[in-house]
Amino acid sequence: MAGEDKKQQPFDSKAASSLVAELRGAFASGTTRSYQWRESQLRGLLRMTDEHEQDITAALRSDLGKPELESVLYEAAMLRNSCKFALKELQRWMMPEKVKTSLTTFPSSAEIVSEPLGVVLIISAWNYPYCMRHFSFFIFPVSFASFTILFVVPTFFLHYLSVLSLDPVVGAIAAGNAVVLKPSEIAPATSALLAKLLGEYMDSSSIRVVEGAVPETTALLEQKWDKIFYTGNGRVGQIVMAAAAKHLTPVVLELGGKSPVVVDSGINLQIACRRIIVGKWGNNNGQACIASDYIITTKDLAPKLVDVLKNELETFYGKNPLESKDLSRIVNSNHFTRLTKLLDEDKVSKKVVYGGERDPTKLQIAPTILLDVPRDSLIMNEEIFGPLLPILTVDKLEESFDIIKSGAKPLAAYIFTNDKKLKEHFVNNVSAGGLVVNDTTVHLAVHTLPFGGVGESGIGAYHGKFSFDAFSHKKAVVYRSFMGDAAIRYPPYTNGKLRL
Ligand code: NAD
Repeated sequence: MAGEDKKQQPFDSKAASSLVAELRGAFASGTTRSYQWRESQLRGLLRMTDEHEQDITAALRSDLGKPELESVLYEAAMLRNSCKFALKELQRWMMPEKVKTSLTTFPSSAEIVSEPLGVVLIISAWNYPYCMRHFSFFIFPVSFASFTILFVVPTFFLHYLSVLSLDPVVGAIAAGNAVVLKPSEIAPATSALLAKLLGEYMDSSSIRVVEGAVPETTALLEQKWDKIFYTGNGRVGQIVMAAAAKHLTPVVLELGGKSPVVVDSGINLQIACRRIIVGKWGNNNGQACIASDYIITTKDLAPKLVDVLKNELETFYGKNPLESKDLSRIVNSNHFTRLTKLLDEDKVSKKVVYGGERDPTKLQIAPTILLDVPRDSLIMNEEIFGPLLPILTVDKLEESFDIIKSGAKPLAAYIFTNDKKLKEHFVNNVSAGGLVVNDTTVHLAVHTLPFGGVGESGIGAYHGKFSFDAFSHKKAVVYRSFMGDAAIRYPPYTNGKLRL
């Protein structure tokens, strides 16, 4: 069949070029600019998520062995929230923003008009192929002598899967662009599902999915885009930026890094450990860009911290975590080998104080804690992106700031402390994409905050209004009338005018 023949065609430069030409035509027609189109596409995404939550969960399980609760909360619900927020705010975001003018242009008025950029490319990573932020509620009853009170507790969960692919799409559509999405080949079930569902639920004249790996991405990167939004590692980030530079295309690069956690004494250590654990192993078993990469604490506190972490890990995942259904597996054998290499380096393997078990047949690695690993080890010199958590110890906690500053700027940094001065010092002196005091990863769930890196951890930001802005040009517009025409600006520039 003709349709099937078409599917067999390799996606090369020629195919990429005609795809972009087609989308340019659709964008030029003006369809994507209207509020109605943007709204209908966002509603389509919402409907897609509602009607296919089970399929999304199944794809995530197939790609990552992701626990169902993590999929539902961190992926499907997150995308829903993102769409709903955009739908609620869209009219306001699209409205020109009035700004003050200066005396020089008096009388005049001015405004900033947000216009779509055009045809944009979104390249996403595998670890949260679907969506991202999610905020939900736990309701639990507490009974007293003769009555019961229902407590409603807001909870954050990491939902990244579909998020990484579709959250930027939400911003691109909301801003009125035509979009090509290239999901990661490392999560093939999710990639195939996204291609199928977006084809069914979205306007295919302006929104397309291209599946594939390096050759397909390379073909896409050869084209001229109006923006490239890339999520993944920094090495490929450089390839993306170099390709974009050829056409002077602006980029957003959502990269990674080594996100530290500083732990002070005098805190509720049990709560701190639970929050560290859920932000690390409760997120794709550590395969998350903002998962804690390493802990810094004092020599005095370290033994107690290790004890509490061990206890809480056992409470969450049992005595044999390789059997736990609540931990994702490692995404593929390459990443499994990479992680075991970090763990098996001679000077590192003897520092394991908890965990270390692995099962290559199931691609599983247990939550693993290492104490006092040497700073020159591999594990301390690349992003871990997995279930290993080294702890560095210092005499005084202030030394932790020098350790953090000596490395590349991380995507996130966390501190647990009740010390006001230490908090202030942390906020004012640690440079990272985002900071959280007394928790980990939850900044992702605050859609009024920008999410992005700084330095080596990324360029640009998104989420909520920041996603809309990332895919919009902020056009400066000044309105004048024919009144109040100042003759001084016109030649001849006489001495009389100079003296005025
Ligand atoms: P990945 O291997 O899925 O690659 C990401 C994308 O780059 C894919 O779509 C892939 O096809 C493409 N790609 C790979 N090699 C390429 C090449 N040579 N040329 C062109 N395109 C290429 O994902 P990954 O890089 O393993 O993802 C993990 C990294 O991403 C970690 O560093 C993590 O911290 C980071 N990350 C960042 C965020 C964030 O929001 N900042 C989110 C998730 C992951």
